[in-house]
Amino acid sequence: MLELKGVVAGYGGFDILHGVNLEVRKGEIVAIVGPNGSGKSTVFKAIYGLIKIRLGDVVFENQNVTSFGTQDLLRAGIAMVPQLSTVFPSMSVYENLELGMYLVKDKAQVKRRINDIMELFPRLAERRAQNAGTLSGGERRALEIGRSLMLNPRMILMDEPSVGLSPILTNNMFLQLQELQKTAGITFLVIEQNARSALKIADRGYVIQRGLVSHTGTGSALLADDEVRRSFLGG
Ligand code: ADP
Ligand code: MG
Repeated sequence: MLELKGVVAGYGGFDILHGVNLEVRKGEIVAIVGPNGSGKSTVFKAIYGLIKIRLGDVVFENQNVTSFGTQDLLRAGIAMVPQLSTVFPSMSVYENLELGMYLVKDKAQVKRRINDIMELFPRLAERRAQNAGTLSGGERRALEIGRSLMLNPRMILMDEPSVGLSPILTNNMFLQLQELQKTAGITFLVIEQNARSALKIADRGYVIQRGLVSHTGTGSALLADDEVRRSFLGG
């Protein structure tokens, strides 16, 4: 569904990714894990058109999207949830969801879609009129995930969705992704510092070290891999 072929990218002429190859198949949850500073967020930014890809290609559903910007990717069916919180605290939960459909002018369509999302996230429905700033960390993340679903994407790209969440909330959030995978058929590419939790729910994973894929396999195979365990799962 999504393929990176020899992606080289970085900042200001300095390469961080040195030829990253990876593939996400339809319906999978794929995790990208690796030590701090290894280039995980750079992969996210390269796919999502936030930095320029110097060499290599990104292909989504047989379409070359290497030079696509954020809006083009959204229209193509890939939504994103970036690392830093993008919830607008002084706007209501409902208004935050509306923003996820700013590309759509048909109000009735927006309303229907918000109702669908509220069904998926009952906690957001209860708090629809509250300012998003009053939500807990877990509820904010749910709001961001809900908002990324507004344009009905086939794939969601997430950077560190567990940041700021307790271990229990992290677990709940990942279970929610699995639920969306099963019920809505959404494909996920999840970048995570929290390798253990991410690999537990991932169908497959990629370990990135110094801007290159060092290991790949099923989530459980990577969790059991001696070298992966030693280098950053804490033995
Ligand atoms: P990770 O997400 O795996 O922790 P990043 O992809 O954020 O790592 O960073 C990889 C490398 O790129 C790091 O050495 C970091 O300092 C560098 N880097 C990240 N963002 C920028 C930037 N905006 N400008 C210059 N260097 C950056
Ligand atoms: Mg990062």
